[in-house]
Amino acid sequence: MANSTKKTNSNTTKHLRRVLEEKSTELRAHMMTPETNALLRVDEEIHDSADLAERSHETWVWVTKNSFDVMLLREIEDALGRLRKRSYGTCMDCGRPVAQKRLEAVPWTRYCVACQEKQSPSMN
Ligand SMILES: [Zn+2]
Repeated sequence: MANSTKKTNSNTTKHLRRVLEEKSTELRAHMMTPETNALLRVDEEIHDSADLAERSHETWVWVTKNSFDVMLLREIEDALGRLRKRSYGTCMDCGRPVAQKRLEAVPWTRYCVACQEKQSPSMN
């Protein structure tokens, strides 16, 4: 009870982590193909360019069908990574804390509202 502000923050973080983990599980279950994991690790694991070329057509077809989910899952995994590194909730552009409301609405966001608008000016 003595440290109520800190406690609220860590509870919120815990809550957001759970939201992210649930969303990640949901997306994985929804996509459930052997390609999913390979794709998510594509940067680290493919060293053979022939293998990559062979795979890339299938991957392309798959990504086209699932691009939104893949993108979202990557964002979520990234956010979970930031949670582990304790950089979660900090705008990756200006370095200021992202508003709590925004984190609750879009838990995987990387940017505060102002910076998000700079990132995608065509959206407005
Ligand atoms: Zn910012």
